[in-house]
Order: sequence, then structure tokens, then C-alpha cells
Amino acid sequence: MTAKPAAAAARATVYGYPRQGQHRELKRAVEGYWKGRVTADALRETARDLRRSNWQQLADAGIHEVPTGDFSYYDHVLDTSVMVGAVPERHRAAVEDDALDGYFAMARGTQDVAPLEMTKWFDTNYHYLVPELGPDTVFATDSAKQVGEVREALALGHTPRPVLVGPVTYLLLAKPAPGVAADFDPLTLLDRLLPVYAEVLADLRAAGAEWAQLDEPALVQDRTPADLNATERAYRVLGTLTDRPKLLVASYFDQLGEALPVLAKAPVDGLALDFTEAAAGNLDALAAVGGLPGKRLVAGVVNGRNIWINDYEKSLATLGTLLGLADRVDVAASCSLLHVPLDATAERDIDPQVLRWLAFARQKTAEIATLARGLAHGTHAIAAELAANRADLASRAGSAITHDPAVRARTAAVTDADGRRCAPYGERTAAQRAHLGLPLLPTTTIGSFPQTAELRTARADLRAGRLDTAGYEERIANEIRAVLAFQEEAGIDVLVHGEPERNDMVQYFAEQLTGYLATQHGWVQSYGTRYVRPPVLAGDISRPEPMTVRWTRYAQSLTDRPVKGMLTGPVTMLAWSFVRDDQPLGDTARQVALALRDEVGDLEAAGTSVIQVDEPALRETLPLRAAGRPAYLAWATEAFRLTTGGVQDRTQIHTHMCYAEFGDIVQAIDDLDADVISLEAARSHMQVARELAEHGYPREAGPGVYDIHSPRVPSAEEAASLLRKGLGAIPAERLWVNPDCGLKTRGWPETRASLKNLVTAARTVRGEL
Ligand code: GLN
Ligand code: ZN
Repeated sequence: MTAKPAAAAARATVYGYPRQGQHRELKRAVEGYWKGRVTADALRETARDLRRSNWQQLADAGIHEVPTGDFSYYDHVLDTSVMVGAVPERHRAAVEDDALDGYFAMARGTQDVAPLEMTKWFDTNYHYLVPELGPDTVFATDSAKQVGEVREALALGHTPRPVLVGPVTYLLLAKPAPGVAADFDPLTLLDRLLPVYAEVLADLRAAGAEWAQLDEPALVQDRTPADLNATERAYRVLGTLTDRPKLLVASYFDQLGEALPVLAKAPVDGLALDFTEAAAGNLDALAAVGGLPGKRLVAGVVNGRNIWINDYEKSLATLGTLLGLADRVDVAASCSLLHVPLDATAERDIDPQVLRWLAFARQKTAEIATLARGLAHGTHAIAAELAANRADLASRAGSAITHDPAVRARTAAVTDADGRRCAPYGERTAAQRAHLGLPLLPTTTIGSFPQTAELRTARADLRAGRLDTAGYEERIANEIRAVLAFQEEAGIDVLVHGEPERNDMVQYFAEQLTGYLATQHGWVQSYGTRYVRPPVLAGDISRPEPMTVRWTRYAQSLTDRPVKGMLTGPVTMLAWSFVRDDQPLGDTARQVALALRDEVGDLEAAGTSVIQVDEPALRETLPLRAAGRPAYLAWATEAFRLTTGGVQDRTQIHTHMCYAEFGDIVQAIDDLDADVISLEAARSHMQVARELAEHGYPREAGPGVYDIHSPRVPSAEEAASLLRKGLGAIPAERLWVNPDCGLKTRGWPETRASLKNLVTAARTVRGEL
């Protein structure tokens, strides 16, 4: 196939680049600054170096217009709060005292003041700091960071395009400040906010920016008519300013939907849209509004949030179609490259054949530049790249790694019955009660016990060869003995082994499953200076041997009380990994589910009567638009049922989820057909228990009575009063007593004291029944 040469030469660009540097220099500098080992000047110097090297990498790869302002010491939404002067009252003194320390105080809190709340950036694993606004918020312009980066890039000879969080998204992501009525709508501040954006834009133009990008990803969610009106007004006001750079309004992660006609009509100079599969509707919708005559279109055809190579022919076909719809078409990644690791060539342990299928940020910029060249000059100009791309895609499609006949045959043979327990929930409970012999209000924990420094050192020593496997396992066994002894002493009813052998709840299983890849340097920012290395679901998934049976069986051998087996569920395994893009997510989930199903079966055969399958990610990967949710929940619940559906009636299946807002997925949680669910509830005073009850949730539940996010020890009376609240919503026959979540981040002293109080509370309340 051939693409017609574009009228004006297509240009290549990106909206953002990984901030951390090749060796996570930014993390070291920022944390060093916090500890007083790195001066403010040295930190600024490191940041400048990183920006310089990022822009150079982009320019060398053939990116014409480089993003500025996307760099951040901590978070770009926090930077936006600083830019518009939205500093909460409690942080004002710190910010006035020292801007940098004040910034970090907002991000992390200090001894005396709480930080801003942190939450997930749309459906990614990046977390931003939530702006706190109220009717008294007074905005004030601080364009120094944005302007400074434009000047830096210009001085280095680049063409900068400053990237800002757009005003509508900024307000939609905000929440009422503490003390402000919960129904306060931050969007009512739009008219006060726009003059600040106008000043920033004027400053950017004065600094030499030809274009500025305003990111409005919130517009890809279901929006109310009021939101759309606000969008229309915002871009009418900003678009009709006389002193401004050209405006590019960017959206990503899903299709624009109702917001597309609004933005297409707005007096702005260009739109950037996601054209990957996640936003498939954008193409038709753009044609339906008659394209963008007179405007620039930036086409996000390279997936900015996954790590697979692009399909050039497919992208060129999309770009070719788009040429007819706008004045000028440029090529980009679908979103900021912040969400992918930096450089695949740093991976030494990945099979070279598989490495050719992977594109991290560096490789993606090269892809974008190649596509822009192909679009501008015709496919003959990129003939060699096209041939190589075709070969790499063919190697992936034809590989035994991505197509394991045994796995394929097994997933094809799955039937509805595999996901169905023998008896329905109501009839299983009696068998489980008889088998387990638990008291009313049984006590348990969520799985992990404190991951002590000794455990982490042992793991590091094992990796470095300072400790042999036997020595390491000895330490794990000792830890399990200590965890079991404590739980018996405390009087907990359903025990756990404490998960001391697990580095991470996804990675531990990924390392043992065939078809999963680990990276050595694939760091992605999760929040602030915390980076994670998500494993890669690269091929068909199978389980060569049992993964958890040995330690669970060992723990059970130490006690007469039931020990709960602990697994990470299929949805969470997908949510916290890079997923395959060559088959539907549901197919990948089903493969993972079948591997876990075997583990469940082996645990049961080894004498485990209670098995918990954690799904903390079920709620968080809910599609951004309601229309996508039924299909997601269908495959997600099917995968869970396939994992757990093969056990006998008397075996009790637990699940666990964190986070508080469950109202909209109670039906899906019920559809999991688990016997018991534990949830986070302590901080919301059992709100979750009431929500479950309101939606008629019929099963056993353990709303957490101990907030594990802080070292604070709840008193027995406090836990008892939460339990009584729980009893107001869930009858005693169905109420469990447990903490909010795992205890791995806690220390032993507070864990001991808190769990003893929790058991006391359960006994007290049992006595009142
Ligand atoms: N079983 C896990 C633990 O206790 C669950 C963690 C989670 O919900 N995030 O650590
Ligand atoms: Zn949890």
C-alpha cells in the first residue's frame, strides 16, 4: 500500500517523555534533596541535564517539535496547581518560605501538614496530586516553570511546544478543599481560571513558543452537557485571545465522543487525537463532523501506553485517511510517553527475537519519525523500515511464544460450566461452616505481614549471590513460623502465612508463569519518586509448576486452624502488567485464569480449605466510558470464576479489593461468585458496608476495621464500634473481622498491637449478639 504525500510535510512530535533518566537520576537527586544530601542547585542542575538529554534524544530520533513543561520533580498536575496559584491554605507558609520545599510539602506533607490527596491518572498506573479548590480559591499566575523550559529548549536549538494540563481537565480533576461543601463543583471556577491561562499563554508566546498544547484527557470520559458547555466557553475565550501561541488541544486514552464537535468548532488551531484501538471511534467521528478544515491534526497512532512495536502499514493507512480530513496531519504517540519505560535496548536478558517486538519511549520516537517521513514523502522513503517492521510483526505472529498450541486448545475448550461452582452460594455456606467450624464474626487478615528489612536484605543477598537458596528458604521458613505463632497467640481464626517470599503480588506470579517477561530497566513512574517495573504479558500463559503450594502447605503443617491460600487474581495480573495487543484482553485474562485455576486446584488438594484470590484492580481498570464497562466486566468476572470455579462446595473462596467506591460495581462483585470479600472501609467509617447492603449484596463480607495506611494503632473499642456499624448493614452470620488491606508496609510493633485489639473487638461484639 502507499500513502499519498501530504500537502505540507508531516511533522513528528510527542506530548511528553519519561522524566527519570537512563539510570533514574531524577529519583536519586530528588530523594537526595529530601535527605539533605543534594543541594537545591544540584537538583536543578540534574533536572536541566535530564531535560537537555531528553530533547536531544528526541531531536536525534527525528522529532521536529519537542514538548516542554512536561518535565516534573514530582507530578505535572501539582505543577499546574503551582502555575495557577492553587496552593492550599495549609501549605501557604511553606511555599512562601521556600518555593521548592513548599512544592514538596504539597506533594508529601510534612510533620504537621497533610499532603494533597493522590489518585490515579485516568486508567493508567500513574498517580497525580488532586487539586483542592473552593469558592474562596484565588488563582494567581506563575508561569516561571513553563516559560523557563521554553527558553531552555530554544537556547539549545529546539522547537519547543509547551504542554499544559488544560483548564477544563484541571478543574474536573480537582476536589473540594477540606472544609468546603462536598457538593462544591470546581468547574464553577472556570471564569476565574481562564485569565490565568491567558496570562500564561501570553508569557509563552513572548518567550518564543509558536504553539502551546492544552491537554484535555478528561473530555474522553462521559461528560455532562454542563461540562461540554464549559469546554465550549473555555476554548472560545482562549481561542479568541489576540496575544497567544497557536493552540493545540490534546485528548487521549479514549475517544472524544460528544466533546469532538465542540472542539472541532472551537477557534483553536489544532487538535491532537488518539487513533489507537482504545479510541477507535475517533476516526469516524472526525469524518462525521466534516474533519478539521483549516486546522492542524496531530494523530496519535503510536500507542503511548504499551510497549509493542507499531504496525506501520496500519498506521499509514489511518494517516492516509486523515490526510483528507485536516489541513495538516502530524504524527505522534497517542499520549505522553511517561507511561512507558525509556529504552528497550537496555534490556540484556530478553531473548533478542522478543526484543525486536518491543518499543519503549526511545523506540517509539523513532517509529513516529519514520511514520512522519512515510507520510510526507511516500512509503518508498521508508521502504527499509517498512520491510523490517513487517518481518518483526510476522516473527511475533508466528512465534511459538505467542502461540502455544496446548494453551490455545485449553482456552478454546473452556465452557460455562468451568466457571460455575457445584452448588449456588446459598447452599455452599452450610458445607463451609461445617468444614471450617468458625465462630460468628470470624477474624482474619488480608495476607501479607510486615516485609521487614531482614526479608528485603535476604532477597537482595540471594540475588547478589551472597546467600544461597537453602539459606534464603530457611529465612522464609523462620518468618512463616513467627507469623503463624503470632496469629495463634493473638487468637485469629483464619490464618495466613504472611507472604514473606513475595517481592510484589504480581511480579511473584509473573516470574513463575511461562509467557510472562520481566524487564531489568523497564521503570515507569507510579508517583513522585516511586517507579515500578511492570512485567510483560508477552506470550501464551502456562504454569510449569505449582507456585504457592509449598509455603502454604508448610504454614498449614504448623497449626490446626485453617491457613488461607493467597493468589493474585487474573484481572489484577493484567492491570499491573503490560498486556498483549495482539489478542483481546479477555483472551489473555482467560489464559492467566486457567493457570491460576490449576494453582487453586493444587492448593485444595494439598488441604487448603480457604483460598483468597485478590482483585484490587477490578475497580480501577473499569473503562473510562460507561459504554465499555459491560464488556469489560463480563470478561473480568468470567476470568475470576474460571480461576475459582473448580473447587468443592466446602472450600471457601475469598476475594479482596482495596479502594472505597464500589456502588457501581456491586453487581459485578456478586457475579464473581466468591464466598467472602474483604474490603477497605476503616477510613470511610464502614461506608462500604452500607453500600453493599443498599445494593443487596448477599454474601459474607469483611469491611476493614483497621486502617493499615498509617502506623496508628486502633483501640479495641474503636474497632468494636466500627464492627457495630458494620453489623448495622451486614448481619452477624455474614460479617468478617479484618484489616483494610495487607500489612506488608507496616512494622511489627503496631501490627501486633492492632491485631490483638481487633481480636478483642471481635470477642466483645460477639458477646453482645
Ligand atoms: N494479599 C495481598 C497483601 O496482603 C493483597 C494486597 C492488595 O490488596 N493490594 O499484601
Ligand atoms: Zn488491599
